[in-house]
Amino acid sequence: MAGTMIVMKFGGTSVGSVEAIKQVVEIVGNYREHGLSVVLSAMSKVTDALRAMAATACGGTEPTEALEALRKRHEETVCAVAEGDERKRALEDCAGLIDELSGILHGITLLRELSPRSADLVSSFGERLSVIVVSAALRSAGLSSIPVDAREYVKTNERYTEAEVNFAETDRRLSEGLAPMVSDGRIPIITGFLGSTDEGVTTTLGRGASDYTASLVGGALHAGEIWIWTDVDGAMTADPRIVGDARVLEEISYLEAAEMSYFGAKVLHPMTMLPAVKQEIPIRIRNTFRPGNNGTVISPRTRAAPLGVKAVTSIDRLCLIVVEGTSLSRTPDTHARLFKTTAERKTQVVMITQASSEHDICLAVDERDSPGTVQALKEEFRHEVAEGSLEEISVQSDLAVVAVVGGGMKGTPGIAARTFGILGEHGINIIAIAQGSSELNISFIVERKDLQKTVQLVHASFGLGGDGGFERN
Ligand code: ADP
Ligand code: ASP
Ligand code: MG
Repeated sequence: MAGTMIVMKFGGTSVGSVEAIKQVVEIVGNYREHGLSVVLSAMSKVTDALRAMAATACGGTEPTEALEALRKRHEETVCAVAEGDERKRALEDCAGLIDELSGILHGITLLRELSPRSADLVSSFGERLSVIVVSAALRSAGLSSIPVDAREYVKTNERYTEAEVNFAETDRRLSEGLAPMVSDGRIPIITGFLGSTDEGVTTTLGRGASDYTASLVGGALHAGEIWIWTDVDGAMTADPRIVGDARVLEEISYLEAAEMSYFGAKVLHPMTMLPAVKQEIPIRIRNTFRPGNNGTVISPRTRAAPLGVKAVTSIDRLCLIVVEGTSLSRTPDTHARLFKTTAERKTQVVMITQASSEHDICLAVDERDSPGTVQALKEEFRHEVAEGSLEEISVQSDLAVVAVVGGGMKGTPGIAARTFGILGEHGINIIAIAQGSSELNISFIVERKDLQKTVQLVHASFGLGGDGGFERN
């Protein structure tokens, strides 16, 4: 594969300690002849820490200790991974960033006000610090690398904390800005997760979105492959924290990967596939700590699993909002008003089900979005509720969604029967069910308390544990 350019992304754990960064240096060194671009996350848990600091400041207390801990962690890491002038320069750059952050937190403390816009600015420091630390380590090892601030290249709208990318402009900027560096044999070390508006205001692309940055870079540079280095061996048949014998999937399709990540497989951000699909750039998921393993390759087509199902994924902490009444079938614009209301609040509706009588519609939403969405729907439909054409809007909490995913499900009969049969035998109550017309997944809602058992049972019933008919990685 020599000569094909690779974009590599290293996640939080992969840059989260001195040992991990040494691994990164070794991996980058091993593949340098391909022409590389590297995208980084913040060091592990740093984004959470920054968000907590912003919240503390907003409450009127300056988060002095947390800021000191952040400074210390980055300085100590620089001292352990970089030498001489590289160390000196990186220490100065980190100190400069920490001082800037300190000033911003001071401002938030005085104002006791934290807008999504300021929250994004605070969050941006994690990636801005990690690229300094890792490029210093790479340069100390003789690898010519340059820290790159993605805010100059990734242009977005003003939807702070979940900004949407302007593809055409971003593509142009990334290819004009980065291609010359790569062809000169330098390695750009790019902040994942970050973007900026047309006015240059900092935005972020959503939690876990460094994967997405990597595929934006891969698409713009027409990379041969995009490699996501993380802390597990690849995309697995289930979340390994829930299912002890979950297995690594050797290959999955873009569609399967998108479906799995949308329904909770945190290993990949759901938007990652988008920039890669058009040019059919393979995405590989690999383990930084076991670089000898092949990992998972995501590409246009793959073999189907023996029973049609490849993975069982889940999203915890959901609520089900139920809108019910004759207005749904009799008044044609009720649905439009319902979704206009959720869209205006930017509520992400994870799943929708409707009974064929058109008498009720259920929306599964994140529990944090639920109170505001219910309030907005109550206001929108107050006349219908008062006149009795809609029931009072109700909410069921402490739920989770489980999704059974696989390209081979299309045309394989009996998948729903197997799934619901096993759950019935174990007395697990299914609250709502949805199946997309693509037949790539069946998703259903259970109570939170049943989540773990449900995933384990369904995973086992499709023979996904053990060697499940696949070769092992
Ligand atoms: P990174 O910091 O490298 O981006 P993440 O924590 O975002 O890593 O994603 C990797 C984690 O995703 C794994 O440690 C694993 O616990 C979790 N995960 C959840 N579902 C899956 C799945 N189906 N396959 C692999 N990993 C999964
Ligand atoms: N650091 C960001 C987060 O924790 C982005 C990422 O890691 O992909 O969400
Ligand atoms: Mg991630």
